[in-house]
Amino acid sequence: MRVMKFGGSSVADAARIRAVAEIIVDAAASDRIALVFSAMKGITDQLLSVADEAATGSATFGRQCDEIRSRHLEVIRELIPDGESTAAAVEALCDELAELLHGVSLVRECSPRTRDLIVSHGERLNCTIVTAVLSSAGLNARMVDGRTIIRTDTTHGSAAVDFKSTYKLIRDTISPDDPIAGDVPIAIITGFIASDAHGVTTTLGRNGSDYTASLVGAAIDADVIEIWTDVDGVYSADPRFVDSASVLGAVSYREAMELSYFGAEVIHPFTMLPAVEKGIPLLIRNTMNPSAPGTVIAEHTSAQAGLITGIASIESVALVNVEGGGMVGLPGIAGRIFGALADAKINIIMISQASSEHSICFIVRDHHADPAVSALERELELELHQKKIERVQVERDLEIVAVIGENMRGRPGISGRLFSALGEAKINVLAIAQGSTEMNISFVVHRSDRKTTLNAVHRAFFPGEVR
Ligand code: ADP
Ligand code: ASP
Ligand code: MG
Repeated sequence: MRVMKFGGSSVADAARIRAVAEIIVDAAASDRIALVFSAMKGITDQLLSVADEAATGSATFGRQCDEIRSRHLEVIRELIPDGESTAAAVEALCDELAELLHGVSLVRECSPRTRDLIVSHGERLNCTIVTAVLSSAGLNARMVDGRTIIRTDTTHGSAAVDFKSTYKLIRDTISPDDPIAGDVPIAIITGFIASDAHGVTTTLGRNGSDYTASLVGAAIDADVIEIWTDVDGVYSADPRFVDSASVLGAVSYREAMELSYFGAEVIHPFTMLPAVEKGIPLLIRNTMNPSAPGTVIAEHTSAQAGLITGIASIESVALVNVEGGGMVGLPGIAGRIFGALADAKINIIMISQASSEHSICFIVRDHHADPAVSALERELELELHQKKIERVQVERDLEIVAVIGENMRGRPGISGRLFSALGEAKINVLAIAQGSTEMNISFVVHRSDRKTTLNAVHRAFFPGEVR
């Protein structure tokens, strides 16, 4: 049993969907398969921006809504002979979307709950079309709405999965052990979208369709979970910024988790969890180059020969620095700082404290910087007043870069090589952190230095590799 997930980049237009259909027809000829699809490329971004636009009370959301409608209808015209019923289903979904946006524009407010419902239309529209395309290619295809099989809490925008009920729902819906294999319809599952215990629509976070695929794979004990995208596999660095980046043949689950957590969006960070639990390998493959072997993500320790496996980076982050002589030896200060941030629901990406205890700095997403400062100024009001803490400062437009790899553990000289390379490239480093697992060193630079940094570090660890 193979679970195959196709991302937005694989279904950007009619030509790409046709290529995907060929890959699927081929796979279905020899194997049992279950499929997961994202929204068409760019549609999720467009839905989020149209929701924001409607929330301002502007009526111009109608134009964007029409664009979304015509893009989907165009694919039906090109790919589905006798596509009237599919077109009608797409029209109905677009009408529902327009009504929702109209409501948002009237109340001038879009709650996270409504946003999830709006954004769910991307996956629902695409899967409606893909199911019809595959049926017209002769497959027994059945659309499965992810909201009926993925159960989550109510954290809209990035909901937490309830594994037990999700696995049961998936197994009850997509049984892998049906006796008459030929008659079992192929499930075409909407990725990314889920629902809470009351059936309210939730989403799994950006790139969440990868996660849907691995949940499905783990529930039905698939042999492999394939993530089909627009690159040949996991690269040693983001190929958009580093020309000499090369495809990695194999990476461990832990390395893939670290790389994706630190910004390699080729895979959603949580995707590895269900796969690890069941020991199912993940395979990253390229829809536009299906003969390429891709990258295997599995349990083995890194098969990479080099000191590090890869480099990743998170953009648009801010550094918050809490500084003051009175903090030295003050017990509980770190606990209060992080407690206040947790209460304000601010996610900390990286922490660093100098051993002098004179300052604690941490990194958050840019949009969390102001709420973080307010939360800390409230919590530390007394210490600020007494000048035990001098200030809470923010620096924006930064980037976290992380070098990652299981081979780093216990090997001296890696930091030396890293920071010499940065010094030679005249990159100013604002903060540094190393996890105790020793498979990650992360540091912060100005965002404008991103490309120079990634290339300088890549050259230092992968000398002479040119694609
Ligand atoms: P999909 O739409 O298929 O989910 P994404 O755009 O989410 O595709 O992810 C694929 C993209 O991830 C690639 O086009 C590439 O630009 C980017 N990317 C970032 N870091 C890496 C990396 N280390 N290896 C491969 N791709 C990466
Ligand atoms: N369509 C969603 C997104 O753009 C989910 C995904 O692509 O995996 O984030
Ligand atoms: Mg993706």
